[in-house]
Amino acid sequence: MIYLDYAATAPLSDVAKAAWLEATSVQGNASAIHGAGRASRSILEDAREKIASLLGVDAAEVIFTSGGTEADNLAIAGPATKGTVLYSAIEHPAIQEAADIAARSGGTTRVIPVTPDGVVDLNALADPLDESVALVSVMAANNESGIIQPLAEIKDLVAEKAPQARLHTDAVQAISTITIPDGYAITISGHKLGAPVGIGALIAARDYPLIALEGGGGQERKVRSGTINVAGAVALAAALEDALAKKEEKARVLANFSAQIVAASEALGGYRSGGDVPRLPHITHVIFPGTDPEALLLGLDMAGISCSTGSACSAGVYRPSTVLEAMGVAEDTYTALRFSTGDSTNQSEIDALVAALPGAVNMARKAART
Ligand code: PLP
Repeated sequence: MIYLDYAATAPLSDVAKAAWLEATSVQGNASAIHGAGRASRSILEDAREKIASLLGVDAAEVIFTSGGTEADNLAIAGPATKGTVLYSAIEHPAIQEAADIAARSGGTTRVIPVTPDGVVDLNALADPLDESVALVSVMAANNESGIIQPLAEIKDLVAEKAPQARLHTDAVQAISTITIPDGYAITISGHKLGAPVGIGALIAARDYPLIALEGGGGQERKVRSGTINVAGAVALAAALEDALAKKEEKARVLANFSAQIVAASEALGGYRSGGDVPRLPHITHVIFPGTDPEALLLGLDMAGISCSTGSACSAGVYRPSTVLEAMGVAEDTYTALRFSTGDSTNQSEIDALVAALPGAVNMARKAART
């Protein structure tokens, strides 16, 4: 099998697996005060410290969650009780739905459009920025297109026009590529980095307006109750450390793979979504006009290739991508494929994809005509 769907979930890495296994041998509940509990608390706090130092924040700012979705929801819910929440049209459903929930409870939210290039429209963001705004949430890079968002410019604009507003970025796909400017609350997710599914974190300053989404024992600054997933936290810290250590080398290798996928796609009449803008090296998103999505995926699947037609949440069920809609992509029939790579991707896998694409695309063009 050729796995090109790292953006949906990355395989468990050796580093994260070893850290996770070692941590599972420490048995106590990290909230218990006996020796076993203290031992567990100690490795939990080590993991928290490690993540904090890797991201240049205080350990107290690291709130462990079950993943990116929960961290995104936490990031939106509190600020939404304080004022208007602005978020971009290409946010992950975890942000969009959290904003919808807040709006149903009487909060005010507003969607900021993106340009056809796939980048947040800074002019459109400037317009609603006033003293009523409590939060601006824009992802660091999009999970479908891979397009990197202008976080530094957004920060400057918000500082100028709505200095009271908080900043949040969903960096689930981007944290191992991009350095997030100071001042942003940050969402990260373990399983995109090689840690197991079920762990993530919201990095939020002590005075970030958080509210608990569920009641319980009051763990994690009283906003994320539930027995803490210590082994998951340890694995997340190890995976993040590993990802950041490999950052430059990985960017170089994966950008080269991406260029090969783009060239092979263009030779078949495909094109990359968005404009000539900075992108994550590990995500290559290509549109094939006049192709039937299911036939194209099936064609690649027959060649043993696993990739995605959209974001992880809509994989398996074809529906037009809200991200492409937001970018104004207006083909009658098309398939957008997302190839995402990672640590274990190698040249022979890219060669196999390049060899399989013509047959699959031709089959999908025929299927679209019938
Ligand atoms: N945000 C982005 C940008 C994502 O790509 C994903 C997962 O696909 C999430 C949030 C949700 O993360 P998790 O699966 O850890 O809940």
